[in-house]
Amino acid sequence: MNIVLLGPPGAGKGTQARLIQDGWGLVQLSSGDMLRAAVASGSPLGQRVRQMMEAGQLVPDDVIIVMIKERIARPDCKSGFILDGFPRSVPQAEALDRMLAEKGLKLDHVIEMAVDEAALIDRITGRFTCAKCGAGYHDRTKPTKIPGICDVCGAGEFTRRADDKPETVKARLAAYHARTAPILPYYRARGALKSVDGMADIDVAAAAVREILGPPKVS
Ligand code: AMP
Repeated sequence: MNIVLLGPPGAGKGTQARLIQDGWGLVQLSSGDMLRAAVASGSPLGQRVRQMMEAGQLVPDDVIIVMIKERIARPDCKSGFILDGFPRSVPQAEALDRMLAEKGLKLDHVIEMAVDEAALIDRITGRFTCAKCGAGYHDRTKPTKIPGICDVCGAGEFTRRADDKPETVKARLAAYHARTAPILPYYRARGALKSVDGMADIDVAAAAVREILGPPKVS
């Protein structure tokens, strides 16, 4: 099963993608995580995209298309994948169609996480992650039980994404409207698009995703 998750930054795509990965045994392919790993490693790709990411701009289509094409050719994608953050423009969606067709594959589900944009900035700028185990928190809605200590692993160091600052979030939302929102009619016209309320609690959104995908394969 191959799935695309769509929606603006902060809609909960990453959270739902991880739940789908665990429940259905698919691989989560987060284009943002791949690019952040490239930046952290200092590779030529990372050096090329770092400033664009820090400014909240999309990286060029050709760069991201090559990266995703290489990634979905790897053996772990054979049993299916969840694309989280790709495609983010109509040319990317068209390139995805071509790369899947070449492999005799198709998209089984395109799920939009619909959100109230006024609430997004608060949602994004408040989020932070345990530096050791990756558990996700939010200053207001999901603080750690003991201040400064991770609930899951007890570590005391946390990270925030460099592009989660309010000014950058505004640029990321502008990029979403200009380049990514036009993908919705592209998939809707094919009858492939389903919508889930991304403002709902995580487990309510997960239940809506389950309705679309059918029962999980992994317990
Ligand atoms: P994300 O983690 O999905 O919010 O992505 C973080 C940043 O990575 C974005 O603001 C873009 O700069 C870049 N990025 C991720 N995916 C794409 C994509 N499909 N197309 C262009 N830029 C992307």
